Amino acid sequence: MNNNIRVRYAPSPTGHPHVGNIRTALFNWLFARHEGGKFLVRIEDTDQARYVEGSVEAILGGLRWLGMDWDEGPEKGGDYGPYFQSQRLEKYQAAAEKLIAGGHAYRCYCSSERLEEMRAAQTAAKQPPGYDRHCRDKCEITPEGITPVVRFRVPLKGRTVFNDLIRGEVSFENALLDDFILLKSDGFPTYHLANIVDDHDMRISHVIRGEEWVSSAPRHVLLYQALGYEPPLYAHLPMILGTDRSKLSKRHGAVSIMDYEEQGYLPETMVNFLALLGWSLDDKTEIMDVKQIIDNFSIERISKTGAIFNVEKLDWMNGSYIRALTLDEFTDRARPFLEAGVPESRAFDRDYIKSALALVQERVKKLGEFRDQPEMTRFFFIENLEYEPIELLGKKMTAASTRTALERSLERLEKLGDFTVESMEADLRSLAEELELKPGQLFGSLRVAFTGLIVSPPLFQTMIVLGREQCLKRLREAVSKSWKLPE
Ligand code: GLU
Repeated sequence: MNNNIRVRYAPSPTGHPHVGNIRTALFNWLFARHEGGKFLVRIEDTDQARYVEGSVEAILGGLRWLGMDWDEGPEKGGDYGPYFQSQRLEKYQAAAEKLIAGGHAYRCYCSSERLEEMRAAQTAAKQPPGYDRHCRDKCEITPEGITPVVRFRVPLKGRTVFNDLIRGEVSFENALLDDFILLKSDGFPTYHLANIVDDHDMRISHVIRGEEWVSSAPRHVLLYQALGYEPPLYAHLPMILGTDRSKLSKRHGAVSIMDYEEQGYLPETMVNFLALLGWSLDDKTEIMDVKQIIDNFSIERISKTGAIFNVEKLDWMNGSYIRALTLDEFTDRARPFLEAGVPESRAFDRDYIKSALALVQERVKKLGEFRDQPEMTRFFFIENLEYEPIELLGKKMTAASTRTALERSLERLEKLGDFTVESMEADLRSLAEELELKPGQLFGSLRVAFTGLIVSPPLFQTMIVLGREQCLKRLREAVSKSWKLPE
């Protein structure tokens, strides 16, 4: 246990967490678990206008789905709570007062009209936008009826430098920072103030977050200095890019993490895949279980360059995790998807379902295929197949030869004492020879007869699952359908 290592995932509840947020959560979690430290969840809900109902549940649900347990935070509590920023307002107000008293912040009474005019003038003069420090050096006379905001008094000269554990030294010119707002007129803090007050109060040792926050870091470092606090260590994670190397967006499938669950990716796939978005064990290892990732995780092996989110790789990885499941696990996980796509399957017992699923486990990439391509397994569970007689026609076969082939197959199977893969295969191969057909011609017709499909799981195994009675019944139906074939 390393009690000094404390990291946090600090999402804003502004919608469902997407891949980038969850990758940040994961890297924090992996780091905490590797180091034996603590992983905190803190909800940064001070921006009331952007609050989206239900997002806290979605955030926590995403963490739970991926197995990222948190040591302190919502539902858990902890020594440094509350873990919702909206319940900590007085702490930010106190910090703002402390900064004002120390000469590091000031009240600003500029009206929104004045700020509007200032912005318009800056745009017209092609100047960079930013507060013109109108209230910075005024003595405090409170104008009637205006509730001030509190702004940070950014040093006008010098540079702010910090060491990023991934990027090395990062340095910003102070003159380029404007006197940003700390406390809004409604008494709510801005992200910058709340974030550093909490990171300090919650004894956060390492701030691990996305690269988009690098430009906020100098403001944070200045705030720490002004408050006389030791800043945490920083590690800004590389950007996640699409395969076209542009920033990952919806267009690349950058959807909410729960959409991946919906599509039938396994949580263990997602953990493995997301861990490789910026971190690697070596140059080649792709498949790693969570224990192996935790054991080997280190900030040193996080790269600076953008990480490519490749959906094809994700699908390949998921297929590989699916194949590695025991048949029982696979059955349990696939069943909800199967039931959604093939409600008829509910009437069957688990053993039957299991034997049917065993035939497709090799081929499935996402469990959602059971729901979205129900034809893949539907034939196992329905009484009457729906297909057109024409589909029974074997390759280069006539109506008559197809009918004969089906009739003769029926005769053979009716007589066959031993209903096994080997005996059926031997029997039907010899029949094909007798009929002067290629085995593929005969098996093609039979496949349609038993499954209604041109492409299906292996024919004889499928017949075993369907069972003798069902096979004979389907074959009789096929024979009668074959009479409808145009001569
Ligand atoms: N609330 C910020 C976010 O939504 C946190 C950024 C940080 O980790 O400092 O990502």
